[in-house]
Amino acid sequence: MQLPELLQTTLYFFIAYGWVLSLPILERFWYIQKQPLLRQGFVSDLLYPYHPFGIEFFIIVGFAWYVFPAEHNGYLQGYLSDKSFIYTMIILIILGEIVFYTAHYFSHKIPFLWEFHRVHHSSTMLDSLSTSRFHIFDRALFTAPILVIIAYLTPRPEIVLIYEFARGFMDRFIHSNLNAPRILHKFLISSPHFHRWHHAQDREAWDTNFSGNFIFMDLIFKTAYDPDPSIKAPPTLFGEEGYTNNIILHQLLPFHFLLKKTLFYTALCQKINIAYQQIREHKWHQQLLRLKWVREL
Ligand SMILES: [Zn+2]
Ligand SMILES: [Zn+2]
Repeated sequence: MQLPELLQTTLYFFIAYGWVLSLPILERFWYIQKQPLLRQGFVSDLLYPYHPFGIEFFIIVGFAWYVFPAEHNGYLQGYLSDKSFIYTMIILIILGEIVFYTAHYFSHKIPFLWEFHRVHHSSTMLDSLSTSRFHIFDRALFTAPILVIIAYLTPRPEIVLIYEFARGFMDRFIHSNLNAPRILHKFLISSPHFHRWHHAQDREAWDTNFSGNFIFMDLIFKTAYDPDPSIKAPPTLFGEEGYTNNIILHQLLPFHFLLKKTLFYTALCQKINIAYQQIREHKWHQQLLRLKWVREL
């Protein structure tokens, strides 16, 4: 099956730009809760899909290189290369969900990984733009295994393109503010309502709904949380207030929080603080502050 060139270009366009730009327009008309487009963190979240910190790419390639050397000819390698469209899609969806659920579960349960995943959970307003807010290490953890599996099973490129097109939509859809019908859950498809509970501040929803685009892993491992809206009102508070919205600091803060747990770093921060206080109290600094133009800086 060879896709026409125009269709291929359209799919590539939607993967790279189309979903990023079109879903925010739909969210203006068909929303769960009214919220401004230009919310806090808007610029960072718009930059995220296109930021130049391509380190995750090198992590993924390095991982793939390590796991599967080029001359390796292993069991099931190339298994999907001659399989039908439907069969390949089902296998990719099942494997994709297993990988996503596992990486996601451990990124919540292991404190070291949580500091990186916390960046994704920092957005206090959920919409499709908040989808891409990921620390580069966290993104690599979620993406590397499935890319390696795809490279190993080698499905036909046009099927991978359609899979990525659908996945690109679903990733943004489940984070969006779109008021989609809950009936999707009956077909095991996730929705904004389902994933909102994962980002909610409500204590009873913590560590639930780890699934990506289909909810069967949460149902199998009993981590699904989807109360009837007539019994429990949908969540309205998300993320972590006070966490920065700055895209650069997002990449640095996890290291700061992890290092803070070490005695050496805490002692170093204390020393820097003391030195800063001494400079502030020094007579030259005090005299400088008497100058009006310095105070106004
Ligand atoms: Zn999470
Ligand atoms: Zn999320």
